[in-house]
Amino acid sequence: DQKRRQRGSVGVFNEALHDEVKREQRLCERLRNAIDNDELCVHYQPIINVNTNALSSVEALLRWSCDGENITPDVFIPLAERSGMMPEIGAWVLNRALIDLSHWSASDAMCLSVNVSIAQLLDDEFIKILDNALQTTQVAPQRLSLEVTESVFANDEELVTQRLQGLVRRGVKISIDDFGTGYSSLFRLQTMPFNFIKIDRSFVKNTSEESDTIIRATLLMAKEFGCETIAEGIETEQQFKHLAMLGTDYLQGFYFAKPMKLEDLKNWYNEKN
Ligand code: C2E
Ligand code: MG
Ligand code: MG
Ligand code: MG
Repeated sequence: DQKRRQRGSVGVFNEALHDEVKREQRLCERLRNAIDNDELCVHYQPIINVNTNALSSVEALLRWSCDGENITPDVFIPLAERSGMMPEIGAWVLNRALIDLSHWSASDAMCLSVNVSIAQLLDDEFIKILDNALQTTQVAPQRLSLEVTESVFANDEELVTQRLQGLVRRGVKISIDDFGTGYSSLFRLQTMPFNFIKIDRSFVKNTSEESDTIIRATLLMAKEFGCETIAEGIETEQQFKHLAMLGTDYLQGFYFAKPMKLEDLKNWYNEKN
């Protein structure tokens, strides 16, 4: 009897797994054609300088509209990673964002942040694609910051370090994204040439004393290593004031602006200035 019950639950489990696999396969096929079908779009979220209150840079965030349904990056980016599409999709984002920036004259003093996933960073073509994009758009490398998460170091550490140093030689900036949530090593902060540390939104959201201690320690360490700091996920005036008081250099979050289509970003900017 027990055996039968077990077999039964395995059956249900298999069915659920099967549905899941089928959904993933379907999404995967759609994603493979998303670029050709014009379903991808880059949105931009402002990053604000605490001291001047001015727009300092924008983060490019990829959007996918599949049959009118918006699939979130947290779903399709891992899917693209697993199915080997990330180098191509990432290249598309990089080109799109640099073209958008280069065509917008008001953006001259602005920087651009682009997320780079591990598959993209390790791709043999990555540096060539980057050089080409910078060359054709004539955007100064110093205006581009590439965001990597701590998890990239869980991979081929030597190759990752080599790639990041290649970026530094070009003058491109490097940000460490979602800092404090992943595979951290203080040693790495010292040896890697990060320009920006992005304090994860979970610490901003959490009002506990422990969270503040972590933020304070991170800010101190960043200063020590010559990195600037960006706090993610500022949603309220209170959080804005608090993170400013703690001494964060830049702030990003819905309190200032959500990620927007290029046109909306331009309108937002014009209203602000
Ligand atoms: P991320 O790089 O940490 O980006 C910040 C995420 O926080 C974005 O989610 C943004 O919309 C969201 N966010 C910003 N301010 C607030 C706020 O005040 N409150 C809340 N609740 N959320 C806020 P999004 O756009 O859904 O992207 C999720 C993740 O997907 C990104 O996290 C990044 O890891 C990845 N991603 C997005 N676009 C790309 C891309 O082009 N390439 C790669 N490799 N990854 C990307
Ligand atoms: Mg990011
Ligand atoms: Mg982040
Ligand atoms: Mg994230």
